[in-house]
Amino acid sequence: MIAPRRLLPALLAVAAFVAPVAAASGQAPGTEPANGEGTVADTLRGRSGRLLARFFAPRHSMEIEPIARLFGRREQKNTSTVTVGDSTDGMMMSLISMLPFTEKKKNGRVGDYHIGRFPEEKGRLRSPAYENPDGFIEVTLDNKDTPVSEHFRLADFLTHDQKDVWPKYLVLREALIDKLELVLVELQRRGIDAQRLTVISGFRSPQYNQKGVGRGGRARDSRHQFGDAADVVVDNDHNGRLDDLNHDGRVNSKDMKIMADAVESVERQYPELVGGLGVYRATRSRSPFVHVDVRGTRARWGRF
Ligand SMILES: [Zn+2]
Repeated sequence: MIAPRRLLPALLAVAAFVAPVAAASGQAPGTEPANGEGTVADTLRGRSGRLLARFFAPRHSMEIEPIARLFGRREQKNTSTVTVGDSTDGMMMSLISMLPFTEKKKNGRVGDYHIGRFPEEKGRLRSPAYENPDGFIEVTLDNKDTPVSEHFRLADFLTHDQKDVWPKYLVLREALIDKLELVLVELQRRGIDAQRLTVISGFRSPQYNQKGVGRGGRARDSRHQFGDAADVVVDNDHNGRLDDLNHDGRVNSKDMKIMADAVESVERQYPELVGGLGVYRATRSRSPFVHVDVRGTRARWGRF
C-alpha cells in the first residue's frame, strides 16, 4: 500500500501531464490523438515506466511551475531544467523547458552553437513529421548528466561535434527514449543479458548531418535531425561496440538480428511507437548497429 501522502502528488502529476501532452497533439484530453502520441495510456513515466524527464515545448513551459510545486524537493540545474522529487522514494523527475525554435538565428546558430537549417526551412516538407522542431533543449555543463530515463541521460543524445562549445542544443523526443527503454525490457524478457544501450548517434544537427549525406550514407532528411532517431548497440562492457549477444564467440549480424527482432516486437506491442528500423553491418572501423526511430510510419532498411 502506497502512503496517500505520496500517492496524491503522483496522481496529480499524471493528470497534469496528460492534459498538456494531449493538447500538444491537438486533441482534447482523454481522446486518442490521430498520431498516436501522448494518450491517456501515457503516464508520467511513459509506456516503459522508466522516463525520468519530460520536455515542454515553449507554449507549454508555464505548466512546469504548477507541477514542480506538487513535489517537495526541487533543484534548479540551469534555467531550463528543474529536477523535482526525491531519488530515494523513486519520485525524481526533471522538467525541462525548450528554447523556442526562433532562438536560432539566420546564421543557423543559437548562441555560438551551430545547428544549421532544417529541411522545412529549405522548402522540403515531406510530411508533418518533417516540420521544424518545436524548440531546443539547452544542454549545459550543469544539466548534461540529467537522467532522461533509467538508462539514458541528456548528453547521450548530443551531436558529436563542437566539443568546446557550451551551451549545446538538442532536439529529443520522449517517445524515442521510451522506445529504447522498451527494447531493453524486451531483450531482457527474451533472456538476453542487455543491461544498457550505447547511443552511437542520437540527435544530428542539420549542419552535421549534411556533412555525411551521400558519403556515409546519411539520409538528407534523416530522422536524426528531428530528435526521434538513435543508432544503438547493446554494450554491457562500455566499449562502444555491439556485444556478443548469442555467445557464439563472434559479433556479427546474428547479434544485430536479436536486437532487430526486439525492436519489431516492441512495435507490435506499441503500434503508436512505430517508426524506422535499419540494420548496419560491421565495417573495418565500426561494429554492427541498429537504427531505431519513432517517425510514426513503418520504415525498414538493411538486410536482417
Ligand atoms: Zn540512424
